[in-house]
Amino acid sequence: MSDPNDPHGQSDRPSPGLHPDPSGAAADGAARTRRRDLAVRAAVEQGLLGPSAPVVGLLDVAGVRASAAALRAALDEVTAPGTPVLHAFAVKACPLVPVLRLLREEGLGAEVASPGELALARAAGLAPARTVLDSPAKTPAELREALALGIAVNADNPQELDRLDALMRSAACRSPLGIRVNPQIGGGSIGSTSTATATSKFGVALRDEGARAWVVEAYAQRPWLTRLHAHTGSQGIPLELMVRGVAETYALAEEINRRIGRPQIDTLDIGGGLPVNFGSDETAPTYARYARLLAREVPGLFSGRYGLITEFGRSLLAKHGTVVARVEYAKSAGGRPIAVTHAGVQVATRTVYAPDAWPLRIAAYDAAGRPRTDPPVVQDVAGPACFSGDLLAEGRALPPLAQGDYAAALDTGAYYFAHHYGYNSLARPGVYGFAPDGDGGTAFATVRAPQSLAEIVAESGGAHAGALTTLGAPERR
Ligand SMILES: *Cc1c(COP(=O)(O)O)cnc(C)c1O
Repeated sequence: MSDPNDPHGQSDRPSPGLHPDPSGAAADGAARTRRRDLAVRAAVEQGLLGPSAPVVGLLDVAGVRASAAALRAALDEVTAPGTPVLHAFAVKACPLVPVLRLLREEGLGAEVASPGELALARAAGLAPARTVLDSPAKTPAELREALALGIAVNADNPQELDRLDALMRSAACRSPLGIRVNPQIGGGSIGSTSTATATSKFGVALRDEGARAWVVEAYAQRPWLTRLHAHTGSQGIPLELMVRGVAETYALAEEINRRIGRPQIDTLDIGGGLPVNFGSDETAPTYARYARLLAREVPGLFSGRYGLITEFGRSLLAKHGTVVARVEYAKSAGGRPIAVTHAGVQVATRTVYAPDAWPLRIAAYDAAGRPRTDPPVVQDVAGPACFSGDLLAEGRALPPLAQGDYAAALDTGAYYFAHHYGYNSLARPGVYGFAPDGDGGTAFATVRAPQSLAEIVAESGGAHAGALTTLGAPERR
């Protein structure tokens, strides 16, 4: 890798013939860098980060708001006036109640895929009518609750549709209902986030023998099936492939409505999956670029004949989060400098277990939280967990990190600090939102308090300490 701190080398340039992203993207990136640098400094100064709080997650509130606004504007630009559009944030990407509330205020809904995610969305005050349930393993009780609340449901498979049939016969239902299909257009560069491969576990595999005809008939027999859903992948899927997935879904809706002879499908859920640029602070690709590409390739989608639902997750949050960890020790082994920090597998699970697919940029700050600018040295940035692969970055050229410095893992607002992994019983770090305080400084708000040791004990069976010694204990003589 020529530039180890730009490991993807993938800052996704516009392909020829497309509108380039409006200039200002670079300025945007620079402003993000500046806000983050100020926040790290302020977090140290205000004691949120330091020897007794050696790892935190920081969330850039202005950045989150800007992404939500950019998403709304991008779809507004291409849809016919009056088209109903619901941007349902994929809660999975950042399951934190204050984040969901912020997005609600920005006009977004929620896409949920488990009872826990639904509970979070409800705790954030999201209306059932602005919530979509998509999980691949919904129980009858979950389906019944969703239908009673009026939450939109996309059935994943024929057996789930059987369950919906039964509920429709027995209960009142106010929910818009649809089927999730898998257009089987192929995967991207990361297998685990490719959802439109031939053998993906999600949705009805459209190209399997007889499947398409089955879907068409399923709609023809059920006037209450009014939606069609596809989510063809997350990080690693090229835009062109995402567009093809949407185009196939649109074509299927058209075919179904033609077959039935009326526009029974009135809403298309095009999923999320816009990839994120982990190579620099620039937002690329943008929602505007994706929307224009869709408008060019699938113009009927925006004609006003269909309401639209999107389900973006990573692209709304990733670039606005930063994990900042104190360097507890700076050591060296085999000639390799190693910064031993407090951020590793517990906050960056994917990166640690699959570093080639999920590399993160690391920014170096000194003990006062100021960016380090010394000439780079190849080093490892290690986490606190007790296995040798617990590395945030391996062989990375960075300004030398010294004891008491801070290493920041960038672009970690989605699928990182909110996805704690309890290895070594490491505590969930505190998460704090930041914004300008109006006085040239930075103000913080607690999004999630750091996990206490008492909570770790309680969540680890602390109330059942004697459970196993009394169960089937040998009779004492
Ligand atoms: C994960 C997921 C999303 C969000 O994907 P991102 O890559 O985070 O945008 C949307 N819809 C469904 C059904 C998902 O499973």
